[in-house]
Amino acid sequence: MDSIRVAERVRRIKPSPSTSAAERANQLRREGRSIVNLVVGEPDFDTPLHIRQAAGRAMEAGATRYTSLAGTLELRQAIVAKLARENGLSFDPGEIIATNGAKSAIYSALAATLEPGDEVVIPAPYWVSYPDMVLACDGVPVPVSCPEEQGFKLTPADLDAAITARTRWLILNSPSNPTGATYTAAEYRALAEVLARHPNVLVMTDDIYEHIRFEGGTAPHLLAAAPELRDRTLAINGVSKTYAMTGWRIGWAAGPRSLVQALDTFLSQAAGNCCSISQAAAAAALTGDQGFVAESVAVYRERRDATAAGINAIPGLSCRLPEGAFYLFVNCGALIGRKTPNGGRLATDDDVVMYLLESVGVAVVAGTAYGLSPYFRLSIATSIETLDDGVARIARAVADLT
Ligand code: PMP
Repeated sequence: MDSIRVAERVRRIKPSPSTSAAERANQLRREGRSIVNLVVGEPDFDTPLHIRQAAGRAMEAGATRYTSLAGTLELRQAIVAKLARENGLSFDPGEIIATNGAKSAIYSALAATLEPGDEVVIPAPYWVSYPDMVLACDGVPVPVSCPEEQGFKLTPADLDAAITARTRWLILNSPSNPTGATYTAAEYRALAEVLARHPNVLVMTDDIYEHIRFEGGTAPHLLAAAPELRDRTLAINGVSKTYAMTGWRIGWAAGPRSLVQALDTFLSQAAGNCCSISQAAAAAALTGDQGFVAESVAVYRERRDATAAGINAIPGLSCRLPEGAFYLFVNCGALIGRKTPNGGRLATDDDVVMYLLESVGVAVVAGTAYGLSPYFRLSIATSIETLDDGVARIARAVADLT
């Protein structure tokens, strides 16, 4: 049998576009092409040594068994302390569940709450996984376009217009992947005024990039700006980006006890607890020396400044300086309609991305993947030499257009 019929649930979702783009780049590299990969969304730093050592100690001490489903009390207490210290938020360990990365927290929250046809409002551009996760849970993603003129942010009026009787969730991601756009406390309060008129809408905050921030320290939190949303907000976060721990797979959700309990019930059958050794490492990350965070952000800032300056010097391309995260979301609208040296015409940002890959070996991801065109996303989570090489190649490719 060469083809197994898979469920409609799987057929309606697509593999992550950034994973597909990275695979295509790797394939070209294996064929001998010189490729500059600006696709990946993970820190290029190693996990700090003291965190790795904590994992080693945990292993030796026998932390190798099932933990409580919601995570060890040690980890949940570290998360409680972090939320108080960094975000000014008060939770207790019973309102926290540790998960296999932030991704699993988001997915299980949707799985535990969506009925078929329930709508989820997703400001666009968005992280590629949100709409597909909603689809996998039988929900209906409702993308709301947030153009560059609005700083890629959701306005209260657009939020109000997007909410219907079927709306179950609003997902906010600040700083955002792919734009870096970051909501201020005042912007959060304005959105909260709209939400006050729609008491049945739950809010998910994806705070995974809160520390990758170029001005003003940790990003403001919705719940600090609008504490009245506390009983219907689920705050998602994790150690992947802040501590360069993508492979360890530790994230969490913090929210009302009944909601967290629903995630717990779902995950108790779908997955089980997350890795015991990684939990010890994550607790060490949250409670230990925080020097790595500022050091890595300083490096990202240098790369952001240099790469954005390089992109903005290319006629036909432009990008805002992102306030956070580690991506540039580059406007390539002026290239649409232009002709490539071999006679093709660039009609969409997908064409621009394909042209950059085929002509100069630069791999980036098209704006279509994030729900806003014509743009492409370029990751700055790589060395400055690689970024300089990438920008020089993009400049050459653009100069060859007529
Ligand atoms: N949210 C956003 C916005 C992300 O960019 C990512 C990682 N690409 C995640 C969540 C998932 O993070 P984790 O590694 O903790 O699953």
